[in-house]
Amino acid sequence: MNVHESEKIAGGLANLGFQPVDSREDADIIVFNTCCIRDSAEKKIHGHIGELKNYKKNNSDLIVAIVGCMTQQSGATESLKEKYPFIDIILGTANVHLIADKISEIINAQSSKRLKIYENVSPTLALHETQPPLRNSYPNAWINIMYGCDNHCTYCIVPYVRGGERSRDPDSILNEASALLADGYKEITLLGQNVNSYSHSGWNFARLLSTIAELPYKFRLRFMTSHPKDFSSEIIDVIFAKHNICKCIHLPVQAGSNSILKAMNRRYTRESYFDTIQKIRSRLVSCAITTDIMVGFPGETDDDFNDTLDLVQRVRFSNAFTFVYSPRKGTPAAQMVQLPASLKRERIMKLIEVQNQIVKEISDSYLGNTYEVLVDGVSGEILTGKTETGRVVNFIGAKELLGEFVNVHIDKCKASALGGHIDC
Ligand code: SF4
Repeated sequence: MNVHESEKIAGGLANLGFQPVDSREDADIIVFNTCCIRDSAEKKIHGHIGELKNYKKNNSDLIVAIVGCMTQQSGATESLKEKYPFIDIILGTANVHLIADKISEIINAQSSKRLKIYENVSPTLALHETQPPLRNSYPNAWINIMYGCDNHCTYCIVPYVRGGERSRDPDSILNEASALLADGYKEITLLGQNVNSYSHSGWNFARLLSTIAELPYKFRLRFMTSHPKDFSSEIIDVIFAKHNICKCIHLPVQAGSNSILKAMNRRYTRESYFDTIQKIRSRLVSCAITTDIMVGFPGETDDDFNDTLDLVQRVRFSNAFTFVYSPRKGTPAAQMVQLPASLKRERIMKLIEVQNQIVKEISDSYLGNTYEVLVDGVSGEILTGKTETGRVVNFIGAKELLGEFVNVHIDKCKASALGGHIDC
């Protein structure tokens, strides 16, 4: 989602006549679009901002802007101003779409002293639809269908920094999708914190998904992220009925223990999660299911962790984003008694070992078969693409195949990607 927001920021700057450059040394404007979902991301961004002090010393015209959800946390703007007085612009998640206007204000300011703009408004105020993005990911394109989240999982800061759920008008989404497909894009990914709860003027997610899938072009349709409590049979029926909706579903489970799911306020149980998986697999036989899993949540016992391992082994996720819980200031879980770091490390290593073995076994099952691959990357004579199930495939081919669907016979299988050759 942040990558797509960065495309919108780049779109605003392009409207002002600026172009992307490869290195910070050549930049007139540097914008950091921040994320505070994980502690590690926040620490990293502080390192990057700190490095800019010297750039500013060498180029006093350089404009530095910090935007996005890190700035939306309580007290964050004041702390950034104090720590990095060379920052020119701070905008939150709701007014980031004003970045181009704010940069113009600074450039056009008559004062000999550099104008500083630090503005944060309530995250529920904006839909960010005003900014045409500078897309950088052909043949894939992202479309936001909604913003914010109403779920309040106890570990998550998103509802505080991005506000409650707001769904976009379906007409505007359909227009955006049609325009992208007419421009030659071949894959559309619908984005939202919880796309399953999309709701606007009588439209639900299943209807939106089905209507976009019917647009008269050859393309793939994906979506993320889904919340297991809202993943309905109606959505499964739509995926089954439309050949171009990828049979690849990201369904974050987070934990396999009912007591931890309850403490996380996830509002489903391991049994109801298994039930959803069973419904998906009975209708969409070859569907890849991916997930997010967290270990070391406060109160997680050995038995809770073993429940997570058991769930992973039973579901057999095609891929899993595994991470260690880290407290986010302002969330309920940050007030709970935390587990020792050594125990969290031990558990994440075990989880990764189990999941890696599953990924290897699933990858091996691709060997000897042919799959349709959408080519989305070119490096010399090596092409990269993805199967419908989201597996990365590398193979030799002409660069003109970028954006084309080709059949690839899989003859190699590595941890990170499959290898193959074009099957004529
Ligand atoms: S559903 Fe996702 S975005 Fe919303 S609070 Fe839970 S983890 Fe955060």
